[in-house]
Amino acid sequence: MTQPQFAADAQALDVPPVSSPDPLSLYLHIPFCRFRCAYCDFNTYAGLDDLIPAYGQALAREIRQVGALAPNGSGPVHTIFFGGGTPSLMPLAQYTEIFRALRGSFELTSDCEITLEANPDDITAKKLTEWRRIGINRLSIGIQSFNEEELQWMNRAHTAADSIKCIEEILSHGFSNFSVDLIYGSPLLSNDSWKRNVEMVIEKKIPHISCYALTIEPKTPLDKMIKLHKTLPVDHERQADQFLLLMNWMKQAGYEHYEISNYALPGMRSKHNSSYWSGENYYGFGPSAHSFDGKNRRWNIANNSIYIKSLQNNSIPFEEETLTMVQQLNEYIMTSLRTTEGLNLDKVNDKFGKSYQDELLAKSNKYVIANKLSTRYSSLILTTEGKLFADGIAADLFFDETNI
Ligand code: SF4
Repeated sequence: MTQPQFAADAQALDVPPVSSPDPLSLYLHIPFCRFRCAYCDFNTYAGLDDLIPAYGQALAREIRQVGALAPNGSGPVHTIFFGGGTPSLMPLAQYTEIFRALRGSFELTSDCEITLEANPDDITAKKLTEWRRIGINRLSIGIQSFNEEELQWMNRAHTAADSIKCIEEILSHGFSNFSVDLIYGSPLLSNDSWKRNVEMVIEKKIPHISCYALTIEPKTPLDKMIKLHKTLPVDHERQADQFLLLMNWMKQAGYEHYEISNYALPGMRSKHNSSYWSGENYYGFGPSAHSFDGKNRRWNIANNSIYIKSLQNNSIPFEEETLTMVQQLNEYIMTSLRTTEGLNLDKVNDKFGKSYQDELLAKSNKYVIANKLSTRYSSLILTTEGKLFADGIAADLFFDETNI
């Protein structure tokens, strides 16, 4: 990892060398929230809404600078994702400015998937109409739970009634492509309550559902509450049970479990997230956003004020690293194992060499014998049992620089 660099002007910018004609994805970070949720460690701020106009200008400026210097032949862009933070907090004026910069700087495919993350309490008929008009065609809604007590425990800004109402509004405004997020494994969530949460989204035939195990990140309010014994810790056994129950319910309801945390009705996978998992190139804009071209990774520093001030001086504050071949392989192992297509050994042979393919086969054998990995064609795929240990299995298959 290198030290932070501050490009002095647009000409000096070291734009990631994303230069293939393959489709590009863009991620735009919107680091503002109404409240901090108790479990959240993302780069986002509550109570700084007065920075939003200057932030919108900075983001548009970064898009124009990167677009102007992107190598010939980059793109076209086939997915755009506004994530956060809470993008649904940002007013239309900033989106108008940002879309102008996007369309002026990049070629967008005619079916470009454009997703906006939204919280239920922000969704109104007016906003839905405006978002559709400017080009947003997919929403990702942070519902997390339909259990009121649990929502309060998480310090979420919305109620269960907000969530039910927003799903109805989304459907009545013609958004046929949207996703909801749910969280399982909190100490307040019984298996019955988890079943009710999942039934709510299945009954409404939500096209895409992301379900995340609650993790206690260091220094979050939840971490502090647990350490002070003010709330119970996560019961990992019950969390694993809830994951197994979830996989079963989703399968019965006809959802494809296409990535460890993601389920889609046929044809409704997230193109944006799939592009990450298949190793495609992407640019990230905004503080803490990452860009990647398969080999070089760069990330903007995670500080709103410095980001805005730097862009006002036509500089982008970032750090970067170049992945070694072993790091690239480990990244492929980590991401591919999480997908339903699995880790393709032919691809490992083609890109990294036969010795790595042979070593991977040897290392994975114990997991195949233990029924945690299955082999199909030339791929290693996690079994239902193996999905409970996805990260540990991937880490065990990793190489270090001296392995081969
Ligand atoms: S709304 Fe999302 S980004 Fe904001 S604090 Fe809550 S979990 Fe974090």
